[in-house]
Amino acid sequence: MPPTSKETPRVDKNDLVSVYQAANAIEATVLKNLLEESGIPAAVSEPIEPFAGSGIDPPDVMVRRADEVRAREILSQYDQERSSKQTAPDWKCPHCGAMVPATFDECDQCGTSRPGAA
Ligand SMILES: [Zn+2]
Repeated sequence: MPPTSKETPRVDKNDLVSVYQAANAIEATVLKNLLEESGIPAAVSEPIEPFAGSGIDPPDVMVRRADEVRAREILSQYDQERSSKQTAPDWKCPHCGAMVPATFDECDQCGTSRPGAA
């Protein structure tokens, strides 16, 4: 078989730096997608010993060294948004009076925007 020239571009694993240690594989994937939406090729580290019964490290989100600074900016924004939403109280919909979780920007009952939301 001749070597194919149609290989999809891959992140060079030798030139990756870790920019974020995710809490779990789901968060790692969310962050990887967030970076890729911003045009930064990203990868999630594989567990080194998937068969070990204990002590699997949380996955790292990795980017190319050249993208490290930009990736860290995006991830710190993510961190800030997440922590501000976590500490925000639930809010009461002015339209229907329902209590809406702080993570929602719209009433889950009637769709009214949160008062004061950007
Ligand atoms: Zn409502």
